[in-house]
Amino acid sequence: MSKNLDRKLRHIHNYPKRGIDFIDITTVLKNAQDFHDLIAELQAACADLNFDKIVAAEARGFIIGSALAYIMQKGFVPVRKAGKLPAAIYKKTYKLEYGESTIEMHKDALQAGERVLFVDDLLAIGGTAEAACELIESAGAEVAGVLFFVELAGLNGRQRLTKYDVRSLYLVH
Ligand code: IMP
Repeated sequence: MSKNLDRKLRHIHNYPKRGIDFIDITTVLKNAQDFHDLIAELQAACADLNFDKIVAAEARGFIIGSALAYIMQKGFVPVRKAGKLPAAIYKKTYKLEYGESTIEMHKDALQAGERVLFVDDLLAIGGTAEAACELIESAGAEVAGVLFFVELAGLNGRQRLTKYDVRSLYLVH
C-alpha cells in the first residue's frame, strides 16, 4: 500500500537555477520509517522483473539503488560522473534539464547477456536514464527495467525511454 511519500518531498524553487523547481528527497531519507517504506515500495514495484544487477547513477541514485540491491541480494554497479572511476570505462555525454553531464561505467562491471535494473531517484527529461541505459547496452547487457522514486510529470522523460519497461512510484507536478 502506498505510504504517500510524495507528500514528504521538499520543493525548492529556483534551485540550482532560476526557473527550476527542485525536488529534495532528503526529507524522506532522514526519517527511518520513510526510508524503509521507500525501499519497500521500490522492491514491490520491481518484484516481477527478472534481473541480476542494479545500476544507479551518482549521487542520489546510489542511496536508493544500493539499499535496494542489498535488500534484493543483487550486485550493485555505480555509474559515476567523469573522471571518478579507476579502471577502463564506457562513457556518455548527454543533456540535463539544466546543463550537460558526462557519465561513466566500468567496462567489466556487467557481463554480456546480464539483465540489469537501472534505478534513480528522479526522472526529469530522461537524459540521465537514457545515457545510463546506453552504457548498460554498450557492455552487451540488457535493460530489464528502469525504476524511479519520482517522475516529474510534464517533462515527458518517458518519451526518451520508450524501448524500456519504465516504472515510477510517484508522479509529481
Ligand atoms: P534527467 O536526466 O533530466 O531525467 O534528470 C534526472 C537526474 O537529475 C537524476 O539523476 C536526478 O537525481 C537529477 N535531478 C534532476 N532534477 C532533479 C530534482 O528536481 N530533484 C532531484 N534530482 C534531480
